[in-house]
Amino acid sequence: MLLDLLLPRRCVACRDAGALFCTACRAALPALTPPLCALCGAPVAWPVERCRECAGRRLAFVSARAAVPYDGDVRRLVRRWKEGGLRPLAAIAAELVVGLIPQPDADVVTFVPPDVWRARRRGHHPAEQLAREVARRWQLPCAALLRSTAVQRQRGLSRAERQRNPAFRALATVSSAVLLDDVYTTGATANAAARALGGRVEVVTFARAVRRA
Ligand SMILES: [Zn+2]
Ligand SMILES: [Zn+2]
Repeated sequence: MLLDLLLPRRCVACRDAGALFCTACRAALPALTPPLCALCGAPVAWPVERCRECAGRRLAFVSARAAVPYDGDVRRLVRRWKEGGLRPLAAIAAELVVGLIPQPDADVVTFVPPDVWRARRRGHHPAEQLAREVARRWQLPCAALLRSTAVQRQRGLSRAERQRNPAFRALATVSSAVLLDDVYTTGATANAAARALGGRVEVVTFARAVRRA
């Protein structure tokens, strides 16, 4: 973080001096546009209610949508944002989310909470930053409605292990919520968070892992 203050700003993607994520790199980002799986938001050849990725899974959210595929420049941006603590990148991600994803019909915006280990290590929380930036643009309240109950990191666990370990506890009940996170990978985290929240949950993330056909 100190280096970012001392060195001239460079684009996280092309390294040109000037903006943190330059206009040219922003314009070159591929968007996740329809046709999408109605449930999990995976890009598909034609509109479907369920796709190969989510068929047979019990998912607690009604839909998941993401602005951009988790790939190339988006990976670089997310890495700098999460590991480098570059807070302004949250506003850039929020602009893309609001520009590309229709606003869900919900009462409140919330976010996937950090686990204890991550929160201590980074001292900042990208999902919350994104949720606050998006909520302001959608003119919805933003509230911390979940607490992580799993101390060990989810990343090291298999999907089956994660599903056996409900990782979240709701701090309040809501009838409908938009659940924000930075990246949708397998959907296991979003699913556990949505299940803990209860009610009607629409998941919105900045990026989404896309499986190659
Ligand atoms: Zn650039
Ligand atoms: Zn699907």
